[in-house]
Amino acid sequence: MVPHIQLTTHDFRIFRGKTSMEIYLILEEVRIKVKKATNYGFDNTHFFYQDLNIGVSPSGFTAYSRKTGTFIDRLWFEERLFEQQDVDLLSDWAHQVSMGQTYCRECQNWVLEFEPYSFAGAVCLKCYDPIKHLPPDTRGD
Ligand SMILES: [Zn+2]
Repeated sequence: MVPHIQLTTHDFRIFRGKTSMEIYLILEEVRIKVKKATNYGFDNTHFFYQDLNIGVSPSGFTAYSRKTGTFIDRLWFEERLFEQQDVDLLSDWAHQVSMGQTYCRECQNWVLEFEPYSFAGAVCLKCYDPIKHLPPDTRGD
């Protein structure tokens, strides 16, 4: 198994009142320590929160479902502090994903059945348009 760093709801509660850059720097320090300890060259995508894969950046978080590999959403908070509502939102995303749901990029509803498109996109069956929702472009540039 690829090494990863498991974040908890408690960790996110501790981040309340911090900026996205402060949180990024804390998690970057953890990532580098774990990278050295495990001798594994992983990047910032190996933070897990329950069934979410959390990408950490100076702008905030990006969440993917670990169950389906689909993109859930971004939680950017560069212009404000991380708050309890953000902890609640991440917790809700993790709960929805644990129930087998993914997030439709078009109608923004949680759905059980979806069509994948592009690299990690997902739309519900009602929103799916085969002309618009194409598979990943793997031709290279
Ligand atoms: Zn939809």
